[in-house]
Amino acid sequence: MKRQFNAQRLDVQAFAEDAAQLSGQAELRGFARLSEEAGGRGGERPVTWSAQGELLNPRHVHPEVWLHLNASTVLPLTCQRCLEPVDIPLAVDRSFRFVADEQTAAAQDDEAEEDLLALSRAFDLLDLVEDELLMEVPVVPRHETCPAPVRLSAADPDFEEAAPAENPFAALKGLKVGKD
Ligand SMILES: [Zn+2]
Repeated sequence: MKRQFNAQRLDVQAFAEDAAQLSGQAELRGFARLSEEAGGRGGERPVTWSAQGELLNPRHVHPEVWLHLNASTVLPLTCQRCLEPVDIPLAVDRSFRFVADEQTAAAQDDEAEEDLLALSRAFDLLDLVEDELLMEVPVVPRHETCPAPVRLSAADPDFEEAAPAENPFAALKGLKVGKD
């Protein structure tokens, strides 16, 4: 008999034992933290994801529980160069190994190359999708090539004020601020 799995209350161990698959598509507005990054824009955009469970060494006393995750969306952000909207595609393709609990995960985290998570019988897969996509959001989103030339007119009073006249240290300071 095939077990049914719920993406937001996933029995991770059973999901791996069955080598089960789940996939779905949800609106961006359903992901509060991603929506916040987008300033509430593009709420109707799709976030697509799929997950595959896998049990490695199934004959072992403690087989390894794995989950492979794919997720993608296109986030509407603001280009930090020209300040126009820019669509930033985000994509995740990552595998996670589940261990007994948080302590085990923390203890093994240094030596393990893979990402470790604590086993749960009610794991929220969509939360993980959101966590992982958030990590892909660029610190400074911008167009590869801005659609319009960036306006750096000396007639622009804001520009004049912000321009680091002839003080190179002011320019450096400006760069540091930009990195945050
Ligand atoms: Zn731009």
